[in-house]
Order: sequence, then C-alpha cells, then structure tokens
Amino acid sequence: MFIIWGWKGRPESIGNGNFFCPACQEETSYDHQQIRTWGTLFFIPVIPMAAGQRYVQCRQCQGTFVEAILNLSDRPSSFLSAPGFQPGDRVLGKRDSYWYPGTMRAPAGKKLKIQFDDGNQMILSKSRVIALDLREGDPAFARRQGGPDYQACTITAVTDGSLQVRFVDGGQEWTKLANVRVVWEEDGEQEE
Ligand SMILES: [Zn+2]
Repeated sequence: MFIIWGWKGRPESIGNGNFFCPACQEETSYDHQQIRTWGTLFFIPVIPMAAGQRYVQCRQCQGTFVEAILNLSDRPSSFLSAPGFQPGDRVLGKRDSYWYPGTMRAPAGKKLKIQFDDGNQMILSKSRVIALDLREGDPAFARRQGGPDYQACTITAVTDGSLQVRFVDGGQEWTKLANVRVVWEEDGEQEE
C-alpha cells in the first residue's frame, strides 16, 4: 500500500463587514478570507498548515479584491461615487486590469474623460473611476527606476505627487505617480 500526500489551499473566513464594492458600485457585505494550506492524505485535507494569502470577497457579486480595498471603505463614500467628480479632481482610472493615477478632465456624456499621469487619455465609464487616495501600506506595482516593467511593491510613504515604494526584494525608492498602478481585484484562481 502506498500513501498519497499533498497539499491544497482552502479559503477560511477571518472576518466580515460592509464595504463599497467597486464591481457592484454600492455598499455590500464582504467576507475577509485567508487561504489556509492543508496537508492532504489521499486528496482529503487533514492537517491545517501555513496561513497564506488574504483577500476580500463581496457576498453579492462574489468578486474578490485585495485587502487594501477595505482601506477605501474608510474613505468617504462621496469619494467613490463618480458623479461627485469635478474637472481637475485627482482619480484612479481603470484601463486594462489596473488602476492608474490621472486627472478627471471633463464629463463625456455618462462617462468621464481622464488624462492619465503617464500620458494616456481615455474616456471611462464612472464605474472605472475612483478618487486617487493611495496610502501607506497599500499594495501597488511600480516601474522600477522608471523602467518599462511594473514590479509588485508596497507603498511605504506618500507625499504630494510622489510615493515611496518597497519592492518584494527589499529595494526601496521614491517614484512619481506616473510610474505606479494598482490592482484591487484578485484573479479568481485561489487554488494553490
Ligand atoms: Zn460586489
């Protein structure tokens, strides 16, 4: 007889509450989840092992978001609802799957014209625009030394117009907002 050992990640709830879900565009309730790695015997989880990645899941749309989304919920909900934006307001606009710093230029019908700090200009629906309010501790991606590739980092300090970021390998630098983007959604793959 032989024994099949393995491991598998499963989410477990470590809290819950209400937040502003960017996908639902309204206040909903969430579960704060953490992936717990279980040792498995014949594919059945038997031993809880390392506690791993944490994320926030909307109970209404089941969308999953990085923990920092909860920081946004501390921020006034007027900041999150686009009808309140005026030309000149600093915003994060969602272009591909990332949110980039920019400035709201003008309403465009039901949409908003956004001038991004990195030079791109786009017309975005209101659900793709939130207030620019990055804070220490928020996860981000930055172009290291202004280079072409974005690397995962954590924001470690914020001043007007620039951010200090720390990369996964410990390297730390000050960078312009134009070099930074953030992601709030987790991709759906939680199995490890
Ligand atoms: Zn939702």
